[in-house]
Amino acid sequence: VLFFVGAAGFFLASVSGFIMSRIFLRPAVRSFEQQQRFVADASHELRTPIATLQLHLEMIKARQDEPMIRHRVWIDGMEREVERLTRLTNHLLLLARSDAKRVMAQPMKLNVLELVDEMWNAFLLAATAKGLSLEMQPTLDEMYGGIENEDDVAKAMSAYQIQADPERLEQVLTILLDNAIKYTTRGTVRISIERERHWMVIAICDTGIGIRKEQQPFVFDRFFRADQARSGSASGAGLGLSIAHEIVREHGGWLTMKSEHGVGTTFYVALPITQRAKSSFRRVPRRV
Ligand code: ADP
Repeated sequence: VLFFVGAAGFFLASVSGFIMSRIFLRPAVRSFEQQQRFVADASHELRTPIATLQLHLEMIKARQDEPMIRHRVWIDGMEREVERLTRLTNHLLLLARSDAKRVMAQPMKLNVLELVDEMWNAFLLAATAKGLSLEMQPTLDEMYGGIENEDDVAKAMSAYQIQADPERLEQVLTILLDNAIKYTTRGTVRISIERERHWMVIAICDTGIGIRKEQQPFVFDRFFRADQARSGSASGAGLGLSIAHEIVREHGGWLTMKSEHGVGTTFYVALPITQRAKSSFRRVPRRV
């Protein structure tokens, strides 16, 4: 256990060092107050799991005569906190990297329908385990299933082709699907893909808790969590959406949302397909 905590501490120290250096050594794009707020918020988020880890560790040290089953509970608690720390530091690292403008590392030709199909497969188990149905529209089968001629398959495929960084786009969809499942207790999560003139729009729609109108303007802010998310059992640090927003903007696109409290939420990722879309943000299909 001591080794486990020591390793986690070492990992944390190096990661925070890297993040702090990224924040302070980069050119002064972000204002000083914003930097200070970010560091304060990040430290606060890191402190909570560290304090819990310390508490559990002290319990184990102080109560060595307690039955093994009690120790197991404390160790399980520590494991959960380490997982939380790992997720949080991964998010902080992503933010630090995107601040350093390394987000668009590898833009390449990619087929959105195939990427979404992979994501659908990856999240199917998590959705089913919560009793939710995970739908995709159109499905790969619907698009290519009936086509026999190779030229026609290539033509159908090219309709879903865009220039993007697959790894980054996967991060965006992971954040959105993870949230959709996390904040939904019953019903359906649906991913749909639509080509709208110069834009490829991926919509992730859920029948979850929704977000109150007055809180909606803040969902893309770093460290923001709506009251309902804070009071509920779903864990998080409020960083996912701000990361997703930055990645989509780096691709020349838009991340927007609409939500009704108690009914559900839809996030729209609009990515430019043509040069014309890239040069004219105003034509983006805005839903909010
Ligand atoms: P978190 O780690 O808290 O999920 P995010 O940045 O991903 O952080 O999301 C910010 C906040 O937006 C969440 O805390 C939650 O209040 C709200 N939110 C995000 N996605 C959804 C959703 N699909 N349904 C309801 N609320 C959501």
